[in-house]
Amino acid sequence: MSTKSAELLAIAQKRLYPNYKPAPIVVARGKGCELFDVDGRRWLDLAAGVAVCAVGHAHPKLVATLAEQAGRVMHVSNYFYNEENVLLADELCERSGMARAFFCNSGAEANEAMFKLARRHFFAKGDTKRTRFIAFHNAFHGRTMGAVSLTGTPKYREGFGGVEGVTHVAYGDIEAVKAELRDDVAAIIVEPVQGEGGVLPAPSGFLEALRSLTSERGALLLLDEVQTGIGRTGHWFGFQSTSIRPDAMSLAKGLGGGCPIGAMLTTEELAGALPPGTHGSTFGGNPFASAAARAVLSILEEEGLVAGAKAKGDRLGAMLSELARELPEMCEGERGVGLLRGLVLKQGFVVRDILPKIADAGVLLTAAGERVIRFTPPLVVTESELAEGVAAVRKVLTTFAR
Ligand SMILES: *Cc1c(COP(=O)(O)O)cnc(C)c1O
Repeated sequence: MSTKSAELLAIAQKRLYPNYKPAPIVVARGKGCELFDVDGRRWLDLAAGVAVCAVGHAHPKLVATLAEQAGRVMHVSNYFYNEENVLLADELCERSGMARAFFCNSGAEANEAMFKLARRHFFAKGDTKRTRFIAFHNAFHGRTMGAVSLTGTPKYREGFGGVEGVTHVAYGDIEAVKAELRDDVAAIIVEPVQGEGGVLPAPSGFLEALRSLTSERGALLLLDEVQTGIGRTGHWFGFQSTSIRPDAMSLAKGLGGGCPIGAMLTTEELAGALPPGTHGSTFGGNPFASAAARAVLSILEEEGLVAGAKAKGDRLGAMLSELARELPEMCEGERGVGLLRGLVLKQGFVVRDILPKIADAGVLLTAAGERVIRFTPPLVVTESELAEGVAAVRKVLTTFAR
């Protein structure tokens, strides 16, 4: 078999550093929710590069914006302002109710910035014993040393050591938080919906309880909105289904629609925590990535995709719970918010063994935790594409269930 895929896979086997285990699919191009490989085979993409391609592949407005921006200026460094970045900061603060924006290139970096912000805030106030963090079991905050220390899956930290001073407690367990929230805690970091950990929405009232506890005891509340932000949950940001406001939040994934960009948004009170010289990023906030993010925000607005994520997410949730009812020997149920949803399999079924079969049936999805088939489609997905995806999953699971 000397297809173009086979040739490239042979080079990949030999040359790519083997820290990932990708499916044997070599993508060449995409359009909307479809991806095509180098040999022209088509897949329905309901993963969107893990909640990244919010406006789908090759959205004409995003393509035109980036082509135009690349022809104008791509990078200037943080020694100078650039128009796209200034306006993006304003647009993100406007939508979130936050006051200040710092830009970087990924989710881990945005969380790393929040980690440093929290410690540095108390350092600057002379409160040098507030250095600890409370994070949650199964939380995912990224792979840099700081972010992986906040991550709640011990195997991701194994062999790396990590940053001292992080205590993990059960997600949703407010009593455990209370017990750990002493006067040496700088901040609590939490995802409004645990994404990688298994698509687990925060229990009702949990974020509100964390907000009042941290305010009462003088610690910061940091939200990791890397997966839940930018319309995915049916709000601009996941926390907007509640009445709280965090002290800082991180964004990445959907923000650039595929162009690497991360951001940390903070309140005005925290504007002094990282003065010039304390933190930075060479690429952070460059005109190219900023233009991408501005185009994503305006497409989401023009096409009503934030409200659409709620409506289509509800439909997807209904399809998945129907599927779970049809296959009770295999499925536990469905959960999630907006277009961040998971089909939960029973103990004993391993999603990573099932995903290749679903890909063979023409649909791309990802795993969350051990037992959850995760759906994070582009927000431009149609109801018939969602139905096509669920039908393929049904067909594959039926063969496993027998
Ligand atoms: C993906 C993710 C990250 C890490 O983002 P990277 O861009 O891979 O560094 C952090 N937090 C959450 C909640 C995520 O889903």
